[in-house]
Amino acid sequence: MPRPLVARIDHAALRHNLALARSLAPQSKLMAVIKADAYGHGLLRVARALAAADAFAVLTLDDAVALRDAGHRQPILLLQGFYEAVELGEIVDHQLAIVVHEVGQLNALLETRPRRPIDVHLKLNTGMNRLGLPAADYADAVSRLRVWSGLGELTLMTHFATADEAAGVDWQMRCFDAITAGLDAPRSLANSAALVRHPQTRCEWVRPGIMLYGVAPNVETAPADLDLRPAMTLSSRIISVQTLAAGERLGYGGTFVAEQPTRVGVVACGYGDGYPRHAGTGTPILVEGVRTRTLGRLSMDSLYADITDLPQAGVGTPVTLWGEGLPAQEVATSAGTVAYQLLCGITRRVPVVEVNGVA
Ligand SMILES: *Cc1c(COP(=O)(O)O)cnc(C)c1O
Repeated sequence: MPRPLVARIDHAALRHNLALARSLAPQSKLMAVIKADAYGHGLLRVARALAAADAFAVLTLDDAVALRDAGHRQPILLLQGFYEAVELGEIVDHQLAIVVHEVGQLNALLETRPRRPIDVHLKLNTGMNRLGLPAADYADAVSRLRVWSGLGELTLMTHFATADEAAGVDWQMRCFDAITAGLDAPRSLANSAALVRHPQTRCEWVRPGIMLYGVAPNVETAPADLDLRPAMTLSSRIISVQTLAAGERLGYGGTFVAEQPTRVGVVACGYGDGYPRHAGTGTPILVEGVRTRTLGRLSMDSLYADITDLPQAGVGTPVTLWGEGLPAQEVATSAGTVAYQLLCGITRRVPVVEVNGVA
């Protein structure tokens, strides 16, 4: 028998979440964000499942070219644009759109004479202070782009820092609206949190990522409350059972000490598979669909589930690490991280099976 750990990717869930995202902004075009190997779900398989998206966004040129080679004809946006002007040849060859977010990058672009026009998403820094032109430089950048012979379509873009928090988006929207007033061009603003929570951000384009994978964009909301379905379920089985007497310790460092007789199911999944190393005792886990907790410090290849109250559980009993029945967000919170990191941190040794695909 192969190692029982597997990541199941549900195409029907991906399609469902896409339709749900669309229903929130029916007037907008939808750019599906599939960076980081589609948040760990597999770039090409997710692109296939989300083929109805109006456009895709990725980080790397390699990913964009792989999408073109697989036959995807939609606009594809490079989220950080190009890093060196030599990349522009391939960008033009594959008709990729680029984010321009920095003035040196803009200058380098304007010095080139591409064989075909390039679509540019010109990013404005409205307060996140990560990427984007300063407000004072934006109108000038638009003017310079518009007289450049290489420009295809221009889109005005920004990104929100607190769309999933109490501070919301209005403080950034005020900046965006003021700086772009009178500039006649399509806009692209909303990530998942903004799309779900801030209707005023739904404009010509929306750019959801995490919600397409079935994760609620703010941690207080359960995905099911938004009717999102998990696209990835990570599951395994118990491969050994240990019985601890009161006072006995478990695992590396012996960090867990049994206070009472404790039955432990050793599960075939560890940090070598991408399960978060900092998930301590008490992280939720499903054993045969029943919610229990992990115990102690996990290792590279295995972790421990408390099956004291599950006498029927033993070697071979199925376990869900996250996904169907257990939102990744809950495991992430226990580990002091976010669901994004769990999903895109699945390692190469985890076999993937696809379900509900269409031929
Ligand atoms: C990653 C990313 C998104 C998608 O964000 P989610 O929170 O996953 O919806 C949108 N826009 C930009 C610029 C991004 O980098």
